[in-house]
Amino acid sequence: MNQLVQETEVLIVGAGPSGLTLAAALRQRGVEVVVIDRAVEMAGTSRAAVIHARTLEVLDAVGVTEELVSRGSIVPRFSVRDGDRALITIDFDGLPTDHPYTLMLSQDQTEAVLRGRLEELGVEVHQSCEFASLQQDAGGVKAMLGDGRAIHAQYLVGCDGMHSAVREHAGIGFTGAAYADSFVLADVVLDWDLDAAEVMLYFAPSGLVVIAPLPGGRHRIVATVDDAPEAPDRAFIQALLDARGPKRRPARVGEVAWSSRFRVHHRLADRYRDGRVFLAGDAAHVHSPAGGQGMNTGIQDAIALAERLSDVLRGGKSAATLDRYESERRPVAAQVVHLTDRLTTLATVNGRTRRWLRNTLLRLLDHVPAVGHTLAMNLSGLVNREAANTNAQL
Ligand SMILES: Cc1cc2nc3c(=O)[nH]c(=O)nc-3n(C[C@H](O)[C@H](O)[C@H](O)COP(=O)(O)OP(=O)(O)OC[C@H]3O[C@@H](n4cnc5c(N)ncnc54)[C@H](O)[C@@H]3O)c2cc1C
Repeated sequence: MNQLVQETEVLIVGAGPSGLTLAAALRQRGVEVVVIDRAVEMAGTSRAAVIHARTLEVLDAVGVTEELVSRGSIVPRFSVRDGDRALITIDFDGLPTDHPYTLMLSQDQTEAVLRGRLEELGVEVHQSCEFASLQQDAGGVKAMLGDGRAIHAQYLVGCDGMHSAVREHAGIGFTGAAYADSFVLADVVLDWDLDAAEVMLYFAPSGLVVIAPLPGGRHRIVATVDDAPEAPDRAFIQALLDARGPKRRPARVGEVAWSSRFRVHHRLADRYRDGRVFLAGDAAHVHSPAGGQGMNTGIQDAIALAERLSDVLRGGKSAATLDRYESERRPVAAQVVHLTDRLTTLATVNGRTRRWLRNTLLRLLDHVPAVGHTLAMNLSGLVNREAANTNAQL
């Protein structure tokens, strides 16, 4: 492990997908970075499993897209179902991109690819290194670590997740609330004969269940429940699929490779910047996992911020350029919070008549190609590409 330097251009707190992407993108543009993470080692758990088209496009700049695609499973379609009946299908395969699909890959694999690239660029993550507090003035930011050491940087970025200490010490509010339901997640071996190349969202009276193919013959199950056990077992997941999944050709759950539960909040940072301190990823926004947007939004934040910071540190642009990061990325996160909230509400509609109305409406909309296209453009993140291109020219 390299010695922790005491002076750098950009200090990145947190080595999740957002911090790793930011570090690689900055280093690639010749900016000096230090990355610290309080965990003893990198997280080895599955968590976010969806990588959307826009994320694959922006990650090309870091040189990892090919490797991610080679490791993941390509899924060209999402469908929303009520039992055996498909209500609406969202096709990604006609989208205007080199990646007209969703890539399924567990988060630990995505992080491993990003770490590998960062190491190639000569940057090591300093593990067991906790950010404790900060002081800033016109010349830079001083970050105090938990073990008493300090690092001085021109800029500091909090990529330290939902409970961000950087956000707290920068005095930035995190406005929103928690959902009443918990979410269950599990990666399982599934015995069933439905389409392997589709993510299926089942809307049922007792809640939502998503079944998505993962590489290696596994499936990711995501479900909303009132109160989930800490590590849902095979019987629990089977009962969820029996109640909410396909009826004519039911799915049988085999081995459970990993399972977890988590409580979801919908929150957005009041600001993305305080002087020389910035936020990216879950530190700036959290929302329902419906549609698999969380990690994707964080990675896209990181690429946008890397461009702005390197424009100032290497490109001779004025520090005012940095304000564009918030004006470009905060509205995107606000839209994601809104979209995922609507999806979650729609999935969990109560009452027979309201469910019938919802299903009828979705089946009608399925015959309007523009609706499917708009949904695909939103879920894939491609809708943000035009806005980003316009901003880049400013
Ligand atoms: C159980 C679970 C399941 C999920 N499932 C999905 C899903 O299905 N789909 C989806 O889109 N998203 C999902 N998410 C959310 C997704 O994992 C996050 O959106 C994503 O990890 C955000 O990346 P990030 O880099 O912004 O933050 P994180 O991945 O949270 O990384 C933050 C990093 O900061 C470090 N850190 C924190 N505090 C400090 C400190 N004081 N000093 C130094 N380091 C610090 C942490 O150790 C961590 O490594 C899930 C999350 C969980 C927990």
